[in-house]
Amino acid sequence: MKPDEVAVGIVLAAFAATLAIGAFGDENTGTTKAGLRSWSSKEIPRAEGVLRVMAIVAHPDDADFRMGCLAVKLARQGARVRFVSVCNGNMGHQAMMPPELAARRKREAEEAGKRYGIERYDVLDNSDCSLMPDYERRVEIVKIIREFQPDFIVTHRTCDYHADHRAVGQLVQDAGYLLGVPHWIPEAPVQRKRPVILFATDTFSQPRLLRPDVMVDVEPYLEQWCEGVNCHVSQVYEWLPWDSGYQAELAKVKESKEARNAYLIRHWAGRKKNDAKRFAAVWRERYPDVPVPKYVEVFEVSDYGRTPSADDLARFAGLLK
Ligand SMILES: [Zn+2]
Repeated sequence: MKPDEVAVGIVLAAFAATLAIGAFGDENTGTTKAGLRSWSSKEIPRAEGVLRVMAIVAHPDDADFRMGCLAVKLARQGARVRFVSVCNGNMGHQAMMPPELAARRKREAEEAGKRYGIERYDVLDNSDCSLMPDYERRVEIVKIIREFQPDFIVTHRTCDYHADHRAVGQLVQDAGYLLGVPHWIPEAPVQRKRPVILFATDTFSQPRLLRPDVMVDVEPYLEQWCEGVNCHVSQVYEWLPWDSGYQAELAKVKESKEARNAYLIRHWAGRKKNDAKRFAAVWRERYPDVPVPKYVEVFEVSDYGRTPSADDLARFAGLLK
C-alpha cells in the first residue's frame, strides 16, 4: 500500500469512528438515536468561517438528483452552497427546440435553487452532448472555483454513461492541482487551502463500483427536495418520462402535493433508496448502533483534491459545524 493510501485509510477509519460517536441525532437536541452525544454548533466553534460547498456537474438537474437533500441540510445549517451546471441543458427534450429549452431550463434551475435554499444555481452556456475537457473549459472551471473558494466540490466520476458527465469529472479533477498554481490564470487569485473533491454516487462498475466514503441519511430533507425537483418540469414531467417510456404513469399524478411528491420520490429518489440498500452492510459495520436509513446520499473522496480529515468529512455531511 502506498503512503497516500495509508493516509486515506486512516482518515476514513477515523471518519467512521467520528460518525459512530457523533452522528445522526437531531441537530438541535444534542442526542442521537443511539443515545450518544452529538456535535452541536455551540460546542464546536468553526475556525474557518462559513462552510462552502459547490457542485460542478454536467446538466441542470444532475446536482439535484445526486446531492439535493444534502444541499438542503447544509443550507439550513447556514452553509454557502452553489450548484453549477456546465452545460445548458439544451438537448434534453423530445419536442422543444434547443434555444428555448436552454432558457427554460435556466429558469427551472434557478427556481429549484431557491426551493433548496442554496445561494446560487448557475447554468453555463455550453451545449449539451458536445462538451469536451479542453483548455478553454479548464480555464472556465478554474476561474469559477477560485472565485467561490469552496471547501468541498462534488462532481461526477469519469466512468459514466454520459460523455458530458465524464468531461465535467475530468475538468474538475484537472482543476484540483491547477487551482493552487499562482501564475496560471493570475487574474483569478489562487485559494491557499485546496478543496476536497468528492464524486457523487453512481452505479457504474467499470473499472469499479463507487466506494461509499460518506453516507448521509437524507430522509428528513426529502419533502423540501421534492419542491426543488418539481421545478424541473421540462425534465421530470416531460423529457425523462418520454425518454424512459413511462409517460402513461404521469396521468395518475394528480395536482396535489402529496401525489406529486410520491411520484418524485418513487422515480427520482430511487437512487437514494437503492444506495441505502446496496450499502446497508457498510452502514451496519460502520455504525452498528444506528438503524440503516431508508434514503442516503453517498459520496466517494477523489484522490485529486485535498486529503480530508475526519472532521472535514463530518462537516461535509452536516454533522459537524
Ligand atoms: Zn446529466
